[in-house]
Amino acid sequence: MKINKYPQREAWPELVKRPVLQREKLTELIADIFKEVERNGNQALLDLNKKFDGVEIKSIKVSEKEIENVESLISNELKDAIQQAKNNITKFHASQITETEKIETTKGVVCWRENRAIEKVGIYIPGGTAPLFSTVLMLAIPAQLVGCKEIILCTPPDKNGNINPAILYTAKLCEITEIFKTGGAQAVAAMTLGTESIPNVYKIFGPGNQYVVAAKEFAQNYNVAIDMPAGPSEVLIIADEKAIPEFCAADLLSQAEHGSDSQVIFLSTDETIFNKTIEETEKQLKVLPRNELAKEALENSHFILLNTIDEALEFSNLYAPEHLILAMEDFENYIPKIRNAGSVFLGNYSCESAGDYASGTNHTLPTNGFAKNYSGVSLDSFVKKITFQNLSQKGLQNLGKTIEIMAEAEGLFAHKNAVSVRLKQENERI
Ligand code: NAD
Repeated sequence: MKINKYPQREAWPELVKRPVLQREKLTELIADIFKEVERNGNQALLDLNKKFDGVEIKSIKVSEKEIENVESLISNELKDAIQQAKNNITKFHASQITETEKIETTKGVVCWRENRAIEKVGIYIPGGTAPLFSTVLMLAIPAQLVGCKEIILCTPPDKNGNINPAILYTAKLCEITEIFKTGGAQAVAAMTLGTESIPNVYKIFGPGNQYVVAAKEFAQNYNVAIDMPAGPSEVLIIADEKAIPEFCAADLLSQAEHGSDSQVIFLSTDETIFNKTIEETEKQLKVLPRNELAKEALENSHFILLNTIDEALEFSNLYAPEHLILAMEDFENYIPKIRNAGSVFLGNYSCESAGDYASGTNHTLPTNGFAKNYSGVSLDSFVKKITFQNLSQKGLQNLGKTIEIMAEAEGLFAHKNAVSVRLKQENERI
């Protein structure tokens, strides 16, 4: 871990950089994978599964038989936990449903917006180093709430060619039955281009490693939309003198264990808390089962001592973390100063894993500084908003002159005429 005490402002731009793979090489690899999937369809997926996941499978599609008895493979304790998380995520996302409001902008001119579900969506469930069945809840619940007609799910198979039972169970619970055994960039290519088994979709959702993120970016060349760049996880903690080092260390490690390309940032204004958190992180790291991955992530991570909480918030806004934790009691006053963050956790008891699993908020969030210009997944991510308007005859009379003047000033006489013919016809009738 990189330790830095009171860095000069000029050093900040370097400190907020993420550990990313070489971009050119990555784009080349992704373009090749797309070409292969376009050319060879399912066979390309089988070959790439073998190449990148070291597994040989016969069929890409999960069979009904594989889903049929999945309940028996899950403990009741886990089923209950998934159910409680599902209830909370459903409650939070259902609260985002808004009523349509018709607005009369000028007498006789009524405008409104209506939501329409995106008909065909693809959800990517990471499964490279950990089977993230929690992501099934985060993506399938809002997709079902808005009424997406076709929801397909892709996730990498394990070493035995199976999908993790918890992923299958959660998918079944969320009534998703179109499940495919393919991961990484090839899964994104398949959902973009379609294969003999996998239908192409209009929008691709889901987090993943750098290959998945780069593939989603590439997919946009084919008129496919994506939720956002949701790549290797990050957390930034701001800790004052009331923070609890043991809690801070656990939160830092909870993101570091995602993968070697994850990054965690610890900012503190209190030297004692700062030193104790470093000690605690090293102590907890030793006993973590995924400590190899976490250790690599920590090598790219920063522990920074700053003068004030305001300064820490400025740093955080520049970094734009996926997850921001304010490890302090007196957080209320600082909320308005947060400008860039994916999801924020307030106070010493709001651990980030609450949002990862079960509090109700979505865990699919922008990384790599994209919290500056993207929101995390929400109900809105699964709909398009269509505007409607109705002008009565009176309405056009009231607005017509304005439209004619503006159209003429732009030199667009057909636009002007569309109003003029109507007003003229109306005048003749009177
Ligand atoms: P993953 O499913 O994203 O990726 C695994 C796939 O990557 C494999 O199936 C393989 O096809 C491909 N791959 C691996 N090595 C490759 C190589 N050398 N060349 C080409 N393709 C290769 O699973 P993961 O690797 O465990 O990563 C999950 C990621 O999701 C983590 O980085 C985690 O931090 C991130 N995550 C992000 C969010 C978010 O909202 N931003 C949420 C949860 C998880």
